[in-house]
Amino acid sequence: MEINAMVQEINRLKKEKNAVILAHNYQIPEVQDIADIVGDSLKLSEEAAKTDADIIVFCGVHFMAESAKILSPEKKVLLPAIDAGCPMADMVTAEKLSAYKAENPDAQICVYVNSSAEVKAEADICCTSSNALKVVESLESNKILFAPDKNLGSYINSQLKDKQMELWNGFCITHERVREEEIKLVKEKKAGVQVVVHPECNPLVVQHADFVGSTSQILSYIKNSTDKEFIIGTEMGILHTLRKENLYKKFTLLSPALICYNMKKTSLEDVLHVLKTEENEIKVDETIRQKAYKSLKRMLEVTEG
Ligand code: SF4
Repeated sequence: MEINAMVQEINRLKKEKNAVILAHNYQIPEVQDIADIVGDSLKLSEEAAKTDADIIVFCGVHFMAESAKILSPEKKVLLPAIDAGCPMADMVTAEKLSAYKAENPDAQICVYVNSSAEVKAEADICCTSSNALKVVESLESNKILFAPDKNLGSYINSQLKDKQMELWNGFCITHERVREEEIKLVKEKKAGVQVVVHPECNPLVVQHADFVGSTSQILSYIKNSTDKEFIIGTEMGILHTLRKENLYKKFTLLSPALICYNMKKTSLEDVLHVLKTEENEIKVDETIRQKAYKSLKRMLEVTEG
């Protein structure tokens, strides 16, 4: 089907079925453009929970659609590319976390939202890359395990004054690919141009950055800056929003390796297919959902309170 016809049919079905389409900042441009809301995973789930849509089409990876289901159990959540997973989320399992808890009964566990519903259910609290510091500071215990992203955990540890967290050995395979030599070289060649990176990058890279932040923090930092050129150290999909929001600013990707193949699995055809058939529904066991909801809710209370 030709692209305009496909877009029209998606919009028609969306209206007919009272659906909302959410797309993560790392999705391909065509998918971002068809979405009602584009953003990071948590913003998307929170926004979805606020709408009166019956169906959520989540253009992202599996754990994101699960988070939407955890926050909106009464809605039907569809994941257009059912094999779009997150290798980092898979680096921690509920069984391993539960074994850790048995050995460390005094520890509190903070898990990054990039994790499965079962893992969230084992945690005391969740966090995002935007609110991780605030969330960790709110924990009473001095013994904290942070999972699964050791890079984000290490960035938070560098800002903590009176405690240090134990870090799970997980990482984002996309951001981890950026090498220290790449950022050193670009800073040498483009002296004076700010390099902004995501805290999922390795600490060796992060230490050279001019600004470190989540996708939403990067977007707002650049929008509010008077600088005209930036080097971007996060997944390439964000360039689409950056260019749309900042017509006269120039952006270069820090490394050609900054592409998440799972985030690129969703096509317009997939979106149309799930809207038509309502296949690829994401379900979460109700006991797990309630426990995972507690960890997410506790995070929301810390950040909104
Ligand atoms: S960019 Fe990294 S954390 Fe995000 S989905 Fe891809 S592998 Fe997972």
